[in-house]
Amino acid sequence: MAVTRTFSIIKPDATRRNITGKVTTMLEDAGLRVVACKRLHLTKAQAEGFYAVHAERPFFADLVAFMTSGPVVVQVLEGEDAVALNRKVMGATNPDNADAGTIRKELAESIEANTVHGSDSEENAAIEIAYFFKPEEVVG
Ligand code: UDP
Repeated sequence: MAVTRTFSIIKPDATRRNITGKVTTMLEDAGLRVVACKRLHLTKAQAEGFYAVHAERPFFADLVAFMTSGPVVVQVLEGEDAVALNRKVMGATNPDNADAGTIRKELAESIEANTVHGSDSEENAAIEIAYFFKPEEVVG
């Protein structure tokens, strides 16, 4: 299995509770390495653009409001089959359905405030990384 990259967001529910270190430790313990990282407060336009694929979904406005409600930490993660590995350690979207030991099962507050985002494909990982990071900001 090749070493690849994925994109992660530690969401506002986690920055509010001051558990970004705990989340990052769970990512690292799963075998992922942080190769780029910054903390920022998303603008409405940034959040809408990032989640444009969900624009027609009923939860879109609430999701944008949540994602702009406080700071986030955006990261590029590297590891063996990083997209799948990250999705595994994140757990299911709804924490009620997430496996024990996953970030969302252990830490998420709700289906919306679910602590982490992770790319769902290699193609989207590349798009999402480029949305937030210049190539020289990713240091493997
Ligand atoms: N979301 C929500 N309500 C829903 C489904 C999703 O608020 O019914 C939010 C949640 O924060 C989720 C994000 O929208 O993480 C993106 O949804 P997606 O289906 O892509 O889930 P993910 O890939 O994050 O597991």
